[in-house]
Amino acid sequence: MPYHHILVAVDLTEECDPVIHRARELSVSNGAKLSLVHIVEPMAMAFGGDVPMDLSQLQQQQFDQARERLDRLINKYPELTKEYSHLTYGQPRQEIHHLAKEQECDLIVVGSHGRHGLALLLGSTANDVLHGAPCDVLAVHLVKR
Ligand code: AMP
Repeated sequence: MPYHHILVAVDLTEECDPVIHRARELSVSNGAKLSLVHIVEPMAMAFGGDVPMDLSQLQQQQFDQARERLDRLINKYPELTKEYSHLTYGQPRQEIHHLAKEQECDLIVVGSHGRHGLALLLGSTANDVLHGAPCDVLAVHLVKR
């Protein structure tokens, strides 16, 4: 059965190109709609919760920067459109699952570094997204630089 709606999740680093390439190929071969998502993680989360200072300005800068990078990607790939691009705050796993459900996506595409050993203990977004996903998940193998 072909996929109808593919959601590609990007971290906005240079590593997102191979992930988008794979998602594009699949959207073309399946005749599927292609949506793009990036999640801006709340800064307080990186510091482990409560932070005794106001991070709202920094957070806004982070969001604006992400918007610029996302727009650059949309301009670079003709299959991506503003209409089907999403930029939200939150925790990547939770937000990606929520969006996939809301938009009725049947495939989520993420990048995976194939970590092992100690690095695996630090966790990976691909692993995280796979658990409890509302649809199929494709982890595109990213070559270590
Ligand atoms: P990581 O395990 O964090 O190195 O990320 C692996 C993959 O997870 C990336 O290639 C993206 O597909 C996805 N990903 C990581 N962070 C985010 C994010 N903030 N928003 C959306 N997708 C993300």
